[in-house]
Amino acid sequence: MAMLTEKQISSCRPGLKQLQQPILPLVRLVWMLYLSGPFQTLDELLRELNEPVETGGVRYQDPCRLLSGFLEAMRPFERLKNAQPPARIILEENLAPADQLAALDSWVSQNVLTQELEAINSALCGPCGCTLCCTGPTENMSHEFFEIPLLENEADLFDLARIDTKQSRSAAPDDEVPLKLNGKPFFACPSQLYNWSKGWSMILPKQSSCPNLEPTSGGCTIYPKRPDVCRRPQIFSYILEPEPCMDAEYEGRILPAFVIRRKILAIWDCPYVKQFQEEIGNYAQLCEMEPIFKENKS
Ligand code: SF4
Ligand code: SF4
Repeated sequence: MAMLTEKQISSCRPGLKQLQQPILPLVRLVWMLYLSGPFQTLDELLRELNEPVETGGVRYQDPCRLLSGFLEAMRPFERLKNAQPPARIILEENLAPADQLAALDSWVSQNVLTQELEAINSALCGPCGCTLCCTGPTENMSHEFFEIPLLENEADLFDLARIDTKQSRSAAPDDEVPLKLNGKPFFACPSQLYNWSKGWSMILPKQSSCPNLEPTSGGCTIYPKRPDVCRRPQIFSYILEPEPCMDAEYEGRILPAFVIRRKILAIWDCPYVKQFQEEIGNYAQLCEMEPIFKENKS
Protein backbone atom coordinates (compact mmCIF):
# COMPACT_ATOMS: atom_id res chain seq x y z
CA MET A 1 0.00 0.00 0.00
CA ALA A 2 1.64 3.26 -1.14
CA MET A 3 1.65 5.85 1.62
CA LEU A 4 4.19 8.33 0.33
CA THR A 5 4.34 10.42 -2.84
CA GLU A 6 6.89 9.73 -5.56
CA LYS A 7 8.80 12.81 -4.44
CA GLN A 8 8.93 11.61 -0.82
CA ILE A 9 10.00 8.13 -1.91
CA SER A 10 12.75 9.65 -3.99
CA SER A 11 13.95 11.70 -0.98
CA CYS A 12 14.06 8.48 1.05
CA ARG A 13 16.67 6.95 -1.31
CA PRO A 14 19.69 7.42 1.00
CA GLY A 15 17.85 5.57 3.79
CA LEU A 16 16.69 2.86 1.38
CA LYS A 17 20.23 2.38 0.15
CA GLN A 18 21.31 1.71 3.74
CA LEU A 19 18.43 -0.76 4.17
CA GLN A 20 19.64 -2.64 1.09
CA GLN A 21 23.17 -2.85 2.41
CA PRO A 22 23.07 -3.69 6.14
CA ILE A 23 26.43 -3.77 7.82
CA LEU A 24 25.73 -6.80 10.00
CA PRO A 25 26.68 -9.46 7.37
CA LEU A 26 30.03 -7.69 7.02
CA VAL A 27 30.42 -7.51 10.82
CA ARG A 28 29.85 -11.27 11.03
CA LEU A 29 32.37 -11.97 8.26
CA VAL A 30 34.92 -9.87 10.14
CA TRP A 31 34.19 -11.82 13.28
CA MET A 32 34.97 -15.09 11.48
CA LEU A 33 38.26 -13.57 10.28
CA TYR A 34 39.01 -12.35 13.79
CA LEU A 35 38.32 -15.79 15.28
CA SER A 36 40.43 -17.67 12.76
CA GLY A 37 43.25 -15.14 12.36
CA PRO A 38 46.18 -14.00 14.50
CA PHE A 39 44.56 -10.65 15.43
CA GLN A 40 44.42 -9.66 19.08
CA THR A 41 42.24 -6.60 18.47
CA LEU A 42 39.67 -5.67 15.84
CA ASP A 43 41.69 -2.55 14.95
CA GLU A 44 44.55 -4.78 13.73
CA LEU A 45 42.15 -6.72 11.51
CA LEU A 46 40.47 -3.63 10.07
CA ARG A 47 43.80 -2.20 8.97
CA GLU A 48 44.14 -5.20 6.63
CA LEU A 49 40.68 -4.87 5.05
CA ASN A 50 41.72 -2.79 2.09
CA GLU A 51 39.86 -4.60 -0.71
CA PRO A 52 36.11 -4.64 -1.52
CA VAL A 53 34.31 -7.57 0.11
CA GLU A 54 31.17 -9.46 -0.90
CA THR A 55 29.12 -11.52 1.54
CA GLY A 56 25.50 -12.68 1.59
CA GLY A 57 24.96 -11.10 -1.84
CA VAL A 58 25.96 -7.64 -0.60
CA ARG A 59 29.10 -5.90 -1.87
CA TYR A 60 31.02 -3.56 0.44
CA GLN A 61 33.29 -1.27 -1.52
CA ASP A 62 35.34 0.08 1.38
CA PRO A 63 34.87 -2.28 4.37
CA CYS A 64 37.54 -0.67 6.56
CA ARG A 65 35.96 2.78 6.34
CA LEU A 66 32.45 1.39 6.83
CA LEU A 67 33.38 -0.68 9.87
CA SER A 68 35.50 1.96 11.58
CA GLY A 69 32.27 3.76 12.61
CA PHE A 70 31.06 0.54 14.28
CA LEU A 71 34.24 -0.47 16.09
CA GLU A 72 32.95 0.32 19.57
CA ALA A 73 29.70 -1.55 18.83
CA MET A 74 31.82 -4.59 17.85
CA ARG A 75 34.16 -4.45 20.85
CA PRO A 76 32.45 -7.28 22.81
CA PHE A 77 33.91 -9.71 20.20
CA GLU A 78 37.36 -9.02 21.65
CA ARG A 79 36.29 -10.70 24.88
CA LEU A 80 37.00 -14.02 23.17
CA LYS A 81 40.72 -13.29 22.99
CA ASN A 82 41.13 -10.82 25.85
CA ALA A 83 39.60 -12.04 29.11
CA GLN A 84 37.47 -9.42 30.85
CA PRO A 85 35.16 -9.54 33.86
CA PRO A 86 31.58 -10.45 32.88
CA ALA A 87 29.43 -7.41 32.07
CA ARG A 88 26.02 -8.96 31.41
CA ILE A 89 24.05 -12.17 31.57
CA ILE A 90 22.71 -13.38 28.21
CA LEU A 91 20.04 -16.08 28.10
CA GLU A 92 18.29 -18.03 25.36
CA GLU A 93 14.49 -17.76 25.17
CA ASN A 94 14.10 -20.83 27.42
CA LEU A 95 16.16 -18.85 29.99
CA ALA A 96 19.12 -21.25 29.72
CA PRO A 97 22.47 -19.42 29.56
CA ALA A 98 23.45 -18.74 25.92
CA ASP A 99 26.77 -20.21 24.79
CA GLN A 100 29.55 -17.66 24.47
CA LEU A 101 29.43 -17.34 20.66
CA ALA A 102 25.63 -16.86 20.58
CA ALA A 103 25.85 -14.39 23.47
CA LEU A 104 28.55 -12.29 21.79
CA ASP A 105 26.83 -12.43 18.39
CA SER A 106 23.55 -11.18 19.86
CA TRP A 107 25.27 -8.51 21.97
CA VAL A 108 27.23 -7.12 19.02
CA SER A 109 24.25 -7.47 16.65
CA GLN A 110 22.10 -5.45 19.05
CA ASN A 111 24.77 -2.72 19.26
CA VAL A 112 25.36 -2.59 15.51
CA LEU A 113 21.71 -2.59 14.47
CA THR A 114 20.76 -0.01 17.10
CA GLN A 115 23.40 2.34 15.68
CA GLU A 116 22.63 1.63 12.03
CA LEU A 117 18.85 1.83 12.43
CA GLU A 118 19.08 5.22 14.16
CA ALA A 119 20.72 6.58 11.00
CA ILE A 120 18.30 4.77 8.66
CA ASN A 121 15.25 6.00 10.55
CA SER A 122 16.51 9.59 10.55
CA ALA A 123 17.00 9.38 6.78
CA LEU A 124 13.50 7.97 6.23
CA CYS A 125 11.55 10.09 8.74
CA GLY A 126 12.52 13.55 7.41
CA PRO A 127 10.97 13.20 3.92
CA CYS A 128 7.66 11.88 5.32
CA GLY A 129 6.54 15.27 6.66
CA CYS A 130 4.87 13.37 9.52
CA THR A 131 4.66 14.43 13.18
CA LEU A 132 3.00 11.37 14.68
CA CYS A 133 5.83 10.79 17.16
CA CYS A 134 5.61 14.36 18.47
CA THR A 135 1.86 14.77 18.92
CA GLY A 136 -0.90 13.40 21.12
CA PRO A 137 -3.64 11.09 19.81
CA THR A 138 -6.08 12.47 17.24
CA GLU A 139 -9.76 12.78 18.16
CA ASN A 140 -10.70 9.44 16.58
CA MET A 141 -7.92 7.38 18.21
CA SER A 142 -8.84 5.16 21.13
CA HIS A 143 -5.85 6.35 23.21
CA GLU A 144 -6.39 9.21 25.67
CA PHE A 145 -2.74 10.26 25.64
CA PHE A 146 0.73 9.36 24.42
CA GLU A 147 3.62 9.21 26.79
CA ILE A 148 7.18 10.27 26.04
CA PRO A 149 9.37 8.70 28.77
CA LEU A 150 12.37 10.84 29.74
CA LEU A 151 15.75 10.06 31.20
CA GLU A 152 17.11 12.00 34.15
CA ASN A 153 17.83 15.63 33.16
CA GLU A 154 15.80 15.38 29.93
CA ALA A 155 12.80 17.06 31.60
CA ASP A 156 14.79 20.32 31.35
CA LEU A 157 14.44 20.16 27.55
CA PHE A 158 10.72 20.93 27.77
CA ASP A 159 9.17 24.25 28.73
CA LEU A 160 6.16 22.73 30.46
CA ALA A 161 4.58 22.70 33.93
CA ARG A 162 5.77 19.88 36.19
CA ILE A 163 3.72 17.59 38.39
CA ASP A 164 5.98 16.14 41.05
CA THR A 165 3.85 15.20 44.05
CA LYS A 166 3.61 12.33 46.50
CA GLN A 167 0.62 11.05 44.47
CA SER A 168 2.41 11.24 41.09
CA ARG A 169 5.52 9.58 42.52
CA SER A 170 3.47 6.58 43.63
CA ALA A 171 1.44 6.32 40.39
CA ALA A 172 2.00 5.13 36.80
CA PRO A 173 0.40 6.56 33.64
CA ASP A 174 -1.39 3.28 32.87
CA ASP A 175 -2.84 2.75 36.38
CA GLU A 176 -6.41 1.51 36.20
CA VAL A 177 -7.52 4.44 38.34
CA PRO A 178 -5.73 7.39 36.73
CA LEU A 179 -3.92 10.05 38.72
CA LYS A 180 -6.25 13.01 39.22
CA LEU A 181 -5.39 16.69 39.25
CA ASN A 182 -8.05 19.07 40.57
CA GLY A 183 -10.59 16.25 40.19
CA LYS A 184 -9.72 15.56 36.52
CA PRO A 185 -7.75 12.60 35.13
CA PHE A 186 -4.21 13.72 34.32
CA PHE A 187 -4.76 13.17 30.58
CA ALA A 188 -7.64 15.69 30.57
CA CYS A 189 -5.10 18.40 31.52
CA PRO A 190 -2.79 20.16 29.03
CA SER A 191 0.60 18.62 28.15
CA GLN A 192 2.75 18.48 31.28
CA LEU A 193 5.77 16.74 32.72
CA TYR A 194 5.10 14.14 35.41
CA ASN A 195 7.39 12.49 37.90
CA TRP A 196 5.88 8.98 38.14
CA SER A 197 6.98 6.05 40.29
CA LYS A 198 9.26 5.01 37.37
CA GLY A 199 10.60 8.53 36.66
CA TRP A 200 9.80 11.50 34.44
CA SER A 201 7.73 11.52 31.29
CA MET A 202 5.91 14.01 29.10
CA ILE A 203 2.21 13.34 28.62
CA LEU A 204 0.67 14.44 25.34
CA PRO A 205 -3.14 14.38 25.66
CA LYS A 206 -5.45 14.20 22.65
CA GLN A 207 -4.77 16.81 19.96
CA SER A 208 -1.74 18.24 21.76
CA SER A 209 1.82 18.46 20.54
CA CYS A 210 5.29 18.60 22.01
CA PRO A 211 6.33 22.20 22.78
CA ASN A 212 9.52 21.59 20.77
CA LEU A 213 7.62 20.76 17.59
CA GLU A 214 7.95 23.62 15.10
CA PRO A 215 4.35 24.02 13.89
CA THR A 216 4.96 25.12 10.30
CA SER A 217 7.95 22.97 9.31
CA GLY A 218 7.06 19.99 11.55
CA GLY A 219 10.72 19.90 12.63
CA CYS A 220 12.11 19.50 16.12
CA THR A 221 13.59 22.73 17.52
CA ILE A 222 15.98 20.80 19.79
CA TYR A 223 16.86 18.08 17.25
CA PRO A 224 20.60 17.70 18.09
CA LYS A 225 19.87 17.32 21.81
CA ARG A 226 16.43 15.65 21.59
CA PRO A 227 15.74 13.02 24.26
CA ASP A 228 16.91 9.47 23.88
CA VAL A 229 13.40 8.15 23.23
CA CYS A 230 12.99 10.52 20.25
CA ARG A 231 16.12 8.99 18.71
CA ARG A 232 14.63 5.55 18.97
CA PRO A 233 13.41 4.55 15.64
CA GLN A 234 10.25 3.06 14.26
CA ILE A 235 12.33 0.17 12.93
CA PHE A 236 14.37 -1.11 15.82
CA SER A 237 16.50 -3.92 16.96
CA TYR A 238 14.84 -6.42 19.30
CA ILE A 239 17.68 -8.88 19.42
CA LEU A 240 18.26 -8.66 23.17
CA GLU A 241 15.48 -7.87 25.58
CA PRO A 242 16.34 -6.72 29.12
CA GLU A 243 15.05 -9.21 31.70
CA PRO A 244 15.56 -7.37 35.01
CA CYS A 245 14.14 -10.20 37.13
CA MET A 246 17.14 -12.32 36.08
CA ASP A 247 19.75 -9.66 36.99
CA ALA A 248 22.33 -11.18 39.32
CA GLU A 249 25.15 -10.11 41.58
CA TYR A 250 28.72 -10.89 40.59
CA GLU A 251 31.66 -9.85 42.79
CA GLY A 252 29.74 -6.96 44.32
CA ARG A 253 28.25 -5.73 41.02
CA ILE A 254 24.79 -6.29 39.58
CA LEU A 255 25.00 -7.79 36.09
CA PRO A 256 21.99 -6.93 33.90
CA ALA A 257 20.28 -9.91 32.26
CA PHE A 258 19.02 -10.11 28.65
CA VAL A 259 17.07 -12.68 26.66
CA ILE A 260 17.96 -13.31 23.00
CA ARG A 261 14.95 -12.59 20.73
CA ARG A 262 16.64 -12.28 17.28
CA LYS A 263 13.96 -9.95 15.90
CA ILE A 264 13.62 -6.59 14.22
CA LEU A 265 10.47 -4.69 15.15
CA ALA A 266 8.84 -2.14 12.89
CA ILE A 267 5.96 0.04 14.02
CA TRP A 268 3.16 -0.12 11.52
CA ASP A 269 1.75 3.32 12.41
CA CYS A 270 4.75 4.94 10.75
CA PRO A 271 4.25 5.85 7.07
CA TYR A 272 7.71 4.79 5.95
CA VAL A 273 7.31 1.41 7.65
CA LYS A 274 4.09 0.83 5.67
CA GLN A 275 5.66 2.10 2.47
CA PHE A 276 8.87 0.10 2.75
CA GLN A 277 7.61 -3.09 4.36
CA GLU A 278 9.28 -5.28 1.73
CA GLU A 279 12.63 -3.49 2.04
CA ILE A 280 12.50 -3.79 5.85
CA GLY A 281 11.72 -7.51 5.52
CA ASN A 282 14.73 -7.95 3.21
CA TYR A 283 16.95 -6.01 5.59
CA ALA A 284 15.90 -8.30 8.47
CA GLN A 285 16.53 -11.37 6.33
CA LEU A 286 20.04 -10.20 5.40
CA CYS A 287 20.68 -9.69 9.13
CA GLU A 288 19.27 -13.18 9.86
CA MET A 289 16.57 -11.70 12.08
CA GLU A 290 12.81 -12.17 12.07
CA PRO A 291 10.91 -9.01 11.07
CA ILE A 292 7.85 -8.22 13.21
CA PHE A 293 5.43 -5.47 12.19
CA LYS A 294 3.16 -4.19 14.92
CA GLU A 295 0.78 -1.35 15.59
CA ASN A 296 1.47 1.02 18.41
CA LYS A 297 -0.76 4.05 18.34
CA SER A 298 -3.84 3.30 16.25
S1 SF4 B 1 11.58 16.65 21.49
FE1 SF4 B 1 11.54 16.91 19.29
S2 SF4 B 1 11.55 14.83 18.46
FE2 SF4 B 1 10.98 14.69 20.63
S3 SF4 B 1 8.75 14.76 20.66
FE3 SF4 B 1 9.43 16.86 20.88
S4 SF4 B 1 9.51 17.68 18.82
FE4 SF4 B 1 9.40 15.46 18.65
S1 SF4 C 1 5.75 7.98 12.69
FE1 SF4 C 1 7.58 7.65 11.41
S2 SF4 C 1 7.55 9.28 9.87
FE2 SF4 C 1 6.12 9.87 11.52
S3 SF4 C 1 7.34 11.17 12.90
FE3 SF4 C 1 7.44 9.08 13.69
S4 SF4 C 1 9.30 8.21 12.75
FE4 SF4 C 1 8.79 10.03 11.58
